[in-house]
Amino acid sequence: MTLEELTTAVAALSLPKYRASQIYRWLHVRGAVSFDEMTDLPISLRSALQEHFDILSCSVEKKLVSAYDDTVKYLFRLHDGEIIESVVMHYKYGYTVCVSSQVGCRMGCSFCASTLQGVVRDLSASEILGQIYAAQRDLGIRISHVVMMGMGEPLDNYENVLRFLDLVSDENGVNISMRHISLSTCGIVDKIRLLAQRRLQLTLSVSLHAPNDTLRSSMMPVNRKWNIDALLSACRDYTAITSRRISFEYALVKDRNDSAEQALELAKRLKGMLCHINLIPVNEVKETGCRRSDEANVRAFADILEKKGFAVTVRRKLGADIDAACGQLRRSHIDQ
Ligand code: SAH
Repeated sequence: MTLEELTTAVAALSLPKYRASQIYRWLHVRGAVSFDEMTDLPISLRSALQEHFDILSCSVEKKLVSAYDDTVKYLFRLHDGEIIESVVMHYKYGYTVCVSSQVGCRMGCSFCASTLQGVVRDLSASEILGQIYAAQRDLGIRISHVVMMGMGEPLDNYENVLRFLDLVSDENGVNISMRHISLSTCGIVDKIRLLAQRRLQLTLSVSLHAPNDTLRSSMMPVNRKWNIDALLSACRDYTAITSRRISFEYALVKDRNDSAEQALELAKRLKGMLCHINLIPVNEVKETGCRRSDEANVRAFADILEKKGFAVTVRRKLGADIDAACGQLRRSHIDQ
């Protein structure tokens, strides 16, 4: 609940207004998972809350810590038994959590493990938030950055994701600044246009992965609904409305989308756009048959884009020993 909603709920129980702020703090700042923990509330109030409300927290089903780099991967169990993945990465500037927005995914990208069995259901705003609270609680840390790059397509769960964004950036709550949040989409154009109207200060990441429609449609079914022209036109408008630079993600798959000609084609396509290009050597998922580009190829691809004047980064691989890439751990857990 937002503080406003909680205030209304508290008033309906004929309680003084300040109780709402107290409970809100327990939930969103201290990450309480039960009303019993709220020790500065009278016991009678705690049991009244118990009777009327649920705290739907994420419980740790499995936790893997990378021996290489402290990356932590969680499988969280939800109230109905569904399993989702989240990853915590430690950077110089703080802790970043990668959250899921759906159980599974229905976008069908050919290289991705999250989508292999389709979507089960959307996550509620509190289940997306719950991943952050559960990780903070388990590790005893404060998360400073969020990337919506876990399982699911955030813009296919638009209302709940926007509600999550409101809650997570609330200064009375966990208070993670919009500037520290990235939202990644495969390119749901009508929702990108809707999101632009909100003028949020978050970073929009767009999964492009191919420089032409033939190739992109073969890798990403969403491209058959909204092609690259439609997507880039929405991206240009997004930047014009929000003044925010878009980050394009491009997963490099060996012999598929990683040639010098394709780098040039990409440069041509993105010419003049205020953007950043993030190259991701693809994580190999057994079922997809996609192979990772060679390091030399990745470098050559990046060089071509840089020479054309683009800001380019190559994503560093973290948590290689713990199946940290999206969807892989949940699948092996369910198979077991
Ligand atoms: N549905 C959203 C966000 C989830 S995935 C989206 O499509 O953007 C976050 C990023 O990881 C996306 O760019 C996605 O295309 C990419 N991705 C998926 N599977 C991958 C893999 N096996 N290797 C590398 N990147 C992958």
